[in-house]
Amino acid sequence: FNYLDKADPEISAAIKREIGRQETKIEMIASENFVNYEIMEAAGSALTNKYAEGYPGKRYYGGCEFVDEVEAMAIERAKALFGADHANVQPHCGANANTAVYQAVLEYGDTVLGMDLSNGGHLSHGSPVNISGKSYNFVPYGLNPETEKIDFDNVRELALKHKPKLIVAGASAYPRTIETDKFKAIADEVGAILMVDMAHIAGLVATGHHPNPMEYADIVTSTTHKTLRGPRGGLILCKEKYAKAIDKAIFPGTQGGPLMHIIAAKAVCFKEAAEPEFKIYQQQVIDNAQALAKALIAKGFDLVSGGTDNHLVLVNLVGKNLTGKRAENLLDEANITTNKNAVPNDPQSPFVTSGLRLGTPAMTSRGFKEEDVEKTVEAMALVLDNPDDPKAMEQAKAIVKELCQTYPLHTIQK
Ligand code: PLP
Repeated sequence: FNYLDKADPEISAAIKREIGRQETKIEMIASENFVNYEIMEAAGSALTNKYAEGYPGKRYYGGCEFVDEVEAMAIERAKALFGADHANVQPHCGANANTAVYQAVLEYGDTVLGMDLSNGGHLSHGSPVNISGKSYNFVPYGLNPETEKIDFDNVRELALKHKPKLIVAGASAYPRTIETDKFKAIADEVGAILMVDMAHIAGLVATGHHPNPMEYADIVTSTTHKTLRGPRGGLILCKEKYAKAIDKAIFPGTQGGPLMHIIAAKAVCFKEAAEPEFKIYQQQVIDNAQALAKALIAKGFDLVSGGTDNHLVLVNLVGKNLTGKRAENLLDEANITTNKNAVPNDPQSPFVTSGLRLGTPAMTSRGFKEEDVEKTVEAMALVLDNPDDPKAMEQAKAIVKELCQTYPLHTIQK
């Protein structure tokens, strides 16, 4: 950091400590990833200097001819990648994308069906503490208690009873395929608009490793920083019918000037996601998640729904006599980063929980293959099965250290 070291050594030092953390710990938070240099360069570029309220060709500021080129390319690439009629690449984050969709198609107080947060949904799908839950009448649907997969009989029943204007599908902690076709049949039966939030699975969708929700949904929202491995940001795709309303809901509805440097990085991300290497990467993400599920089950861990179809697993720790909070702390001490997560019918509070959410996108970007995932699980089982044994902790740390040294993070600029 030539400039930052001199201008602000305190911030520079904190960033370096964070780089050290990323390099020396195994990242298993399912929503995180490591971007490539080219994404960093675009995100750290001079485009941060430019105000560009409006859309390409229709701006409220002068000097937008080059950022117009960038945003137009980002839009075209996003449309092509996901087969959408229309794309808005301006949402600052996933929550903003969802808020704008609600603003575009709902009136305050309208009824919406969304997945229950404690069953894997996201805060912005109607949680009472989020603007979505405060502004609209969200009715939560959940999982079938036997299969721990989405209970479509329950979704249909609720839809027929409450006649929602909008049905929201998609989740933050759901290890199974999102069956948009089934949601669509229910939405059509009750005349609801269908929105799918594919934030977690967008990378898998881009390469055909998960069915494309745009085939059935009216509107699809996403983040660009999870499996899609782009900059931190949001995205809205939709059928032509909703294009004008969506654009108006982002600007001037809920945002001001777009982050043009981030939009440039999103454009790079969409280009890379269409390349053959990205398909190989996503296949490895899936293969690693399968290896993760298999190895955890072999070590006696209980997985919600019994396994995974995508990039994440949800571990139920009730049988292991551990809370999610304790497990997260133990693993962090062993240099494995995870997050505690509620499981269906969780006896603990949301701040403690009885589960762990684990994902493979970041470790796969680093180069991990199935055998490395198995070694990681060995380290995890050592500390989770022997929580008070300092020797087990040391053994786990040694496994993690060797893996991190075998797969250095090449993509981080220092
Ligand atoms: N939607 C889903 C399904 C998510 O999992 C998340 C983030 O975890 C979001 C939306 C929100 O994204 P952001 O944190 O960028 O607002």
